[in-house]
Amino acid sequence: MTTVSYKNQWQPTVCGLSYINCGIEAMTEGRQIVKVRGDRAHPSTRGYACQKTQRLNYYQNHADRLTTPLRKRSDGSFEAIDWDTAIREIAARLAEQKSVDPEIPGLLLRQGIVLV
Ligand code: SF4
Repeated sequence: MTTVSYKNQWQPTVCGLSYINCGIEAMTEGRQIVKVRGDRAHPSTRGYACQKTQRLNYYQNHADRLTTPLRKRSDGSFEAIDWDTAIREIAARLAEQKSVDPEIPGLLLRQGIVLV
């Protein structure tokens, strides 16, 4: 695998901390996000970024961050599952919902959470 170094270069991306997904630029060193600023070229947020985005490195690299999808059990606890399983189960639930009511939106993506 090739590793590309972007040290001291601003990279356009989006903030994933809320549903707004503001356009931002990030400067990284390895896996560390060292600086973040609003992306003035972003068509909808035009340079806006709130203070929360300044903590992106904390969320991105926190030891307790989620690294796999979690399936909620009937007792309210969660179990880790692989991505193929998560996508297959979500697709099956969506198909089930659509068969009952074809007009139902059925999918909400928000802050990395999928509700079916
Ligand atoms: S910069 Fe703030 S408002 Fe914009 S997506 Fe991130 S958390 Fe949400």
